[in-house]
Amino acid sequence: MGIPFIDLKTQYAAVKNGIGERINAVLDHGQYVMGPEVKELEGLLANFIGTKHCVAVSSGTDALLISLMALDLKPTDEVIVPDFSFFGTAEVVALTGARCRFVDVDPRTFNLDPAKLECLINKNTKAIMPVSLYGQCADYTAINKIANKHGVPVIEDGAQSFGATQNGKKSLALTEVGCTSFFPSKPLGAYGDGGALFTDDDNLANLYRQILSHGQDGRYHHVRLGLNGRMDTLQAAILIEKMSIFEGEVDKRQVVAKRYSDNLHQSIVTPTIEEGNLSVFAQYTIQVDDREAVIAKLKEKDIPTAVHYPEPLSSQPALKEQQQEPQPITAKLAERVMSLPMHPYLTEADQDKVIAGINSLF
Ligand SMILES: *Cc1c(COP(=O)(O)O)cnc(C)c1O
Repeated sequence: MGIPFIDLKTQYAAVKNGIGERINAVLDHGQYVMGPEVKELEGLLANFIGTKHCVAVSSGTDALLISLMALDLKPTDEVIVPDFSFFGTAEVVALTGARCRFVDVDPRTFNLDPAKLECLINKNTKAIMPVSLYGQCADYTAINKIANKHGVPVIEDGAQSFGATQNGKKSLALTEVGCTSFFPSKPLGAYGDGGALFTDDDNLANLYRQILSHGQDGRYHHVRLGLNGRMDTLQAAILIEKMSIFEGEVDKRQVVAKRYSDNLHQSIVTPTIEEGNLSVFAQYTIQVDDREAVIAKLKEKDIPTAVHYPEPLSSQPALKEQQQEPQPITAKLAERVMSLPMHPYLTEADQDKVIAGINSLF
């Protein structure tokens, strides 16, 4: 059998009984929408992350979109996003009708480069949305400092960084608002779509709850436009159960990542984790010359890889109205990055197979 890029089956075997019981409890009580498990999950996650509020929603994309809808953006307003990320980060800005301002990333961490941030801020800047890519937090100390100086809110796209920490504080609690995703392959994954917003701000949390429920402030009274952005009760029940093994999984990811970094050939650029950061390694992403040849040769050896992400956001056809040039570091990374199989249940034998397969090419 080949090596899975992400192994959800082995994880399922570890929580099968508990998940079955949780799902059956929902089927028995029948509150499939806004059931008690949604509140239970919100309490559990707010406590885990260390924020006053957690608002569970239908996906990571909807979490990001809701965070921006709460700002009532106008077409002249701007949101600063890194040029190197999953499409959803910029998509939500464009969906609100506002304009993306793309900022380049740090070549070592792949995250928004704070040194390139301040010159993009102007009177139209309404938010900064850094991404904690591959599971490592962006430099929120530096980013918050610049944002505070200009009175602009910071919204973390922590879709890949649930469980990561920076100087002892959890990702999603490091900025005014944190948004995450529970897509099945993320560090904490549901068995379908899900997401959440985290904040200490009571007014924002209330606003998010209104928006996720069609802008209602009471039954059938709509004070603003919203969405159907609710998390399913079944997904909340599954996430509660998966939280019981989550911290152990974060530890297991460290072991796999360290073994890769210690043993991969020196001509491969392995991930840099900055001092004070703990990455959850949503992806273990290396940089190589001649990527397409490396990927093809690994495929022959039955070693799966993926490219996150092959194009700068500013080059995406759907964002051409944003009219910006690709950022230079981003453009280079988009040609060089590739991700290796990474999950908590990757056996030493499979790790060795990946390491040997790559090293044989150098
Ligand atoms: C996965 C992801 C999203 C979107 O989350 P969904 O739950 O799939 O909607 C947004 N931003 C980043 C960086 C992601 O990795």
